[in-house]
Amino acid sequence: MMPITQNIENNHIIPLYKKRDITLVRGEGVYVYDENGKKYLDFSSQFGVAAIGHNNSELNKAIASQADQIISVHNSFYCEPRAHLTEKLLELLPNELSQISYFSTGTECVEVALKFARVATGRSKIISTKGSYHGRTMGALTATGQPKYQKGFSPLVPDFIHVPFNNLSALEDEMSDEIAAVILEPIQAESGVRMPDADYLKNVKKLCQKHGALLICDEVQVGTFRTGAFLATGQYNVVPDIVCLSKAIGGGMPLGVVAITQEIAERLPKGAHGTTFGGNAICCTAGLTTLNYITDNQLNKNISEMGEYLLNRLKELQQKTTHIREVRGNGLIIAIEFKEKVGKIMKELQEGGVLVISSGSTILRILPPYIITKENCDEFLDVLEEVII
Ligand code: PLP
Repeated sequence: MMPITQNIENNHIIPLYKKRDITLVRGEGVYVYDENGKKYLDFSSQFGVAAIGHNNSELNKAIASQADQIISVHNSFYCEPRAHLTEKLLELLPNELSQISYFSTGTECVEVALKFARVATGRSKIISTKGSYHGRTMGALTATGQPKYQKGFSPLVPDFIHVPFNNLSALEDEMSDEIAAVILEPIQAESGVRMPDADYLKNVKKLCQKHGALLICDEVQVGTFRTGAFLATGQYNVVPDIVCLSKAIGGGMPLGVVAITQEIAERLPKGAHGTTFGGNAICCTAGLTTLNYITDNQLNKNISEMGEYLLNRLKELQQKTTHIREVRGNGLIIAIEFKEKVGKIMKELQEGGVLVISSGSTILRILPPYIITKENCDEFLDVLEEVII
């Protein structure tokens, strides 16, 4: 008989997700455990969220201690954890991005970025990139450059144009003084960890400046040190006008950040957006503790070192098999592209005690916690090798 949890979910949770047949009940560092006590190496971080590991005692203590004080403080009141998180972000962000607002999900951050761009420029047209993923609410969905997510939801938001990613001349062709913003992921994550050429982002920014358009960088997945740098755009020496962060930044709590320049902030009317939960005390505490944990322990170095180690070892593995087409990545976001569909491989990895996620049908995406060790990487590689060779 199906366990009760799975039975209830299968019968009463709206089936928006393809389910994996385990119930996760506990986490510890880079591992999670199912209802039968089986241990899994979580190289998904639960879709890039559990950046400082599961059941992190510093995070737990901070959340518990804040919960003892107050959980909910609406944005219309001042809130100490919110102010402290803001100070920390100001240390990490480029100086230009000095104005911050807090939300609950990545999609909401994107939605807000699009609204800010339109109202601040007085223009409506937005250029986005094909293959991008920005979320599923109407604005973010329209920005998302993947028709498979948009099917059935027409009419989408008007005045969006999609151009190929990493193709400056295609962008140049669509650029004009009517464009409010260009929105892009500095590295396209969900569609398979697609990296831009070294100068692409810099040239996009120049083109935006030339036409008075804003550059929105969606760093929901690749920001918050996932590539080793706080912002992935930092690695490309670009400062966006608007940046969106979520996933890892909350350490598991629902937190989203939109950071913009002072100049844009001055152009926003009061009430340009509103949210009940954004910036509440408990999520800001989680964000601050997560960022402090990363910087205090210099996890940025570990991210770069482990990322390089994994990439090199995966390239060696590629030589040993005909199944892998390509491996690519930056820090701790890595794609392993296969020549065949990866559903069976993912299932066998799970049976072998390793959790990863996919990007489309032929790519495995790994987003390990930032605290992984060489031993964790070897454990992952051993199971992967056993499954595919
Ligand atoms: N933007 C990017 C780049 C993402 O990867 C995601 C989620 O995967 C989102 C936006 C949407 O974030 P959320 O699922 O928290 O709404």
